[in-house]
Amino acid sequence: MGNIRANTPYSFLSNLESLFSVSLQNSHEIIANFHQEMRSGLAGIDSSLKMIPSFVHRPTGTEKGSFIVLDLGGTNIRVMAVELDGNRKTALAAVTRFVIPQPLICGTGDELFDFIADCIQLFFKNNSLGRQQSYDLAFTFSFPVEQRSLASGKLIGWTKGFTASGVVGKDVVTILSEALQRKEMGFIHVVALANDTVGTLLAGSYSDPLCDMGVILGTGTNACYPEKVSRIVKSAGLGPPSGEMIVNIEWGGFSRLTTNIYDRELDSASNNRGKQQLEKMVSGMYLGEIARRVIVEMMKQGLLFSERSLPVFSEEYMLRTEHLSLIAQGSDLFADSTLKNVSAIDIRTIREICRIVSTRSARIAGSAIAAVVAWMDENLESDRTIAIDGTLFEKYPGYRENIMAILHELFGERAKKIKLELIRDGSGIGSAIIAAVAASGRDNFPHQTPDARI
Ligand code: ADP
Ligand code: MG
Repeated sequence: MGNIRANTPYSFLSNLESLFSVSLQNSHEIIANFHQEMRSGLAGIDSSLKMIPSFVHRPTGTEKGSFIVLDLGGTNIRVMAVELDGNRKTALAAVTRFVIPQPLICGTGDELFDFIADCIQLFFKNNSLGRQQSYDLAFTFSFPVEQRSLASGKLIGWTKGFTASGVVGKDVVTILSEALQRKEMGFIHVVALANDTVGTLLAGSYSDPLCDMGVILGTGTNACYPEKVSRIVKSAGLGPPSGEMIVNIEWGGFSRLTTNIYDRELDSASNNRGKQQLEKMVSGMYLGEIARRVIVEMMKQGLLFSERSLPVFSEEYMLRTEHLSLIAQGSDLFADSTLKNVSAIDIRTIREICRIVSTRSARIAGSAIAAVVAWMDENLESDRTIAIDGTLFEKYPGYRENIMAILHELFGERAKKIKLELIRDGSGIGSAIIAAVAASGRDNFPHQTPDARI
């Protein structure tokens, strides 16, 4: 489908609304296709869902200890000190958040990891942690990794705009440990490597035994769930067939959605063309850019602001999801800008664009959540908690409600059995739980059979 042609903002927006709509029918199709892709991914057949075994199962709630956690997200680095009391309670003893500077995202891997080591060094300094003793560090790494053991794994490929060189195909724990050595922090030992979704699920189920799904809605988006070992066909021999292993779906890669012209143009201009289709329609990294592309088109057609203002919106990714979030909250972002003669209709139009783009995101995310729920519990018979981490979910006005709306359309009254639980920093807290399991020696999966394929 090509672009919208309209004579008034109103008619453009009403066309835009249909272009971005995810109907109940569409949602059912997404779920059916999702299940097919999950099945293929688990069988090792070509699929847009990688379905990566994590070699981790859910915790018992008795895991105990204090750990340093490094959580490398798509926008932020969080370094924290996590305490697990062995009785379903976790505490963040200290946390420092850093924003990853843009040039490092596209520079060399060494520069990126040197910066990460600097963040850890600063965290130690700020919290007066001594260098005399050794520390166990759990590493939450929010990119697709082929896990080799609890504390090693190769980066399959970057997502979320990262291109840092020399990392793809390498063990990220080795790279981090080398950076720590370079900065004279060899007293820190990386004892666990976890995907952020797996961390989030672990953090959720540590405190709530009903929790059986972890979801990320931040810079990127992804999810994981506990799968019966017998159903992970591609990796036979991973443990007792009746047991469970958490599977990292890598759902950002799901490629069977209906895209429109804005999605296709965003994809063509991206540095990972043809990849991460769902992520590009749903996650925080991209919503602002989708909206910017719509705004530019409306300006070109003389339906928004004045054409003289076009240069204001010409830079890719200059409009960010946090801006959309502010606009959705009713703040007048453009009051201080160089835009001239902003009318009440312009403001209303921009708000509508934000609503349309964010609603589609939440309805696709809700459909993907429903697909995984139905995979585990076809008729939604049990109560279930879904642990969600990520600032998009936490802060975008109405995002949770939009997810719940599609769940209600799909499941009716039974949707009430689903609890969406925000676990702030869960992605990091959960990898401390993996570190605790590793320290206790209770990890019972034979690590990485040689033919385990992902
Ligand atoms: P990370 O992805 O690095 O782990 P977060 O979960 O905090 O970190 O997600 C950061 C992303 O969340 C940003 O890239 C942005 O897209 C989005 N975001 C940031 N602030 C807001 C906000 N106020 N409302 C909605 N989304 C936001
Ligand atoms: Mg994160």
